[in-house]
Amino acid sequence: EAGGWFELNEAIRSALRIAQMETMRQANVETELPGGLEVRGSPGPVSQVFVNLLVNAAQALEAGVGPRKEIRVTARREAGMAVIEVSDTGPGIPAEVLSRLFQPFFTTKGSTGTGLGLSISRNIVRRFGGDISVRSVPGDGTVFTVSLPARPAEG
Ligand code: ADP
Ligand code: MG
Repeated sequence: EAGGWFELNEAIRSALRIAQMETMRQANVETELPGGLEVRGSPGPVSQVFVNLLVNAAQALEAGVGPRKEIRVTARREAGMAVIEVSDTGPGIPAEVLSRLFQPFFTTKGSTGTGLGLSISRNIVRRFGGDISVRSVPGDGTVFTVSLPARPAEG
């Protein structure tokens, strides 16, 4: 499924609005989003991916380890892809958990978690020719990286 081209910023801004109840309570949200970056997919599902990542980040910050509570969302163009990073200064993820994050129904949130957010998110971005990955240093925070095919810049 190819989807059409749409402005990445619009999908991210819409996700920031939808998630703002959760994020506002927990963190400062900083964005670095260049204009004119178009990606392939459907804006609704792609927006849902960022809602999932933002809510996860806010919930991670709720645990609260340090005084710094920040969520950063950045986007850049890199080798034909738009690369979007959603990072938080939460407690991070231990190695044994990292390897299971994208499995359906894997959650560390007990009965309040579905464990479906990340597996659905990965399916969405892969459907449009992108991917999603994570890196994390326990005690230092977590970075989710989403890639989606970028529309070639007009030359
Ligand atoms: P849910 O949020 O319902 O638990 P997800 O698929 O969204 O399901 O996430 C799966 C698990 O990944 C979470 O339960 C949590 O343990 C871990 N996780 C996801 N995002 C973060 C994050 N930003 N910081 C720490 N752990 C995270
Ligand atoms: Mg989740």
